[in-house]
Amino acid sequence: MHPQIVRILEEASARGFSVSLISNASRTHRFWTKIKPHLNAVILTYHSEFVDFDHFKGVGEILVPDVPMHINITMKPAEFGKIHADALELRQAFPDATISLKPLRVDFATELYEYSDAQMAIMDAGLPGCSGHPDRLPRATMTGRTADGNRNRLRANEIILRNLNRLMGYRCNAGLESLRINASGQVFRATCGVGGSIGTLGETFELPYAPISCTAHKCGCTADILITKSRAEQFVRR
Ligand code: SF4
Repeated sequence: MHPQIVRILEEASARGFSVSLISNASRTHRFWTKIKPHLNAVILTYHSEFVDFDHFKGVGEILVPDVPMHINITMKPAEFGKIHADALELRQAFPDATISLKPLRVDFATELYEYSDAQMAIMDAGLPGCSGHPDRLPRATMTGRTADGNRNRLRANEIILRNLNRLMGYRCNAGLESLRINASGQVFRATCGVGGSIGTLGETFELPYAPISCTAHKCGCTADILITKSRAEQFVRR
């Protein structure tokens, strides 16, 4: 995390921003207790390769029920059974949280690792739903509407699993609904980088004022998938 993260969170919440933090939960319980008053939502990613289950669960226990929580479980094909068991335990520990079984992409690009049909079915089915009906979700869903008017509400990982993320040619609101700033201060419309850099922090630059036509083979990042996209006969939006 940024060395000034505590100050950034304090300043953001003091200015009335709605603050949602994405993290692997590795920082100390003391840290999470300190920043909790400045969080409106949190998205925790459970990385089986280096996570300490009890520590991760302890972070969740600090945050709930005050902070709406979503947990992404990264499903490595080789350890699928063990990770799925951990996910079920987290489901039981945090009945009010939303939890996704997240398929992994090769080199963080757009192609999924090779999963068996059974593994794909388990991820597609997901875990039992959260017990309540939270009015604030840390991670939005998408509503897809087809040409014949059918509407379908999907989570981002369901869009990936069902191969619905081939959106080349769509008009996309990346840059209008989202911005990505990388570690060196370069600003992009979204994580995908479509359209290239639009400026650098500390310099003068113009923010986009119109959608962009998607040139990517696949829309691979969960955050990018949640941006509104449209085309003449079909659209997908938040
Ligand atoms: S990859 Fe996704 S976010 Fe990027 S321009 Fe295409 S549809 Fe939009």
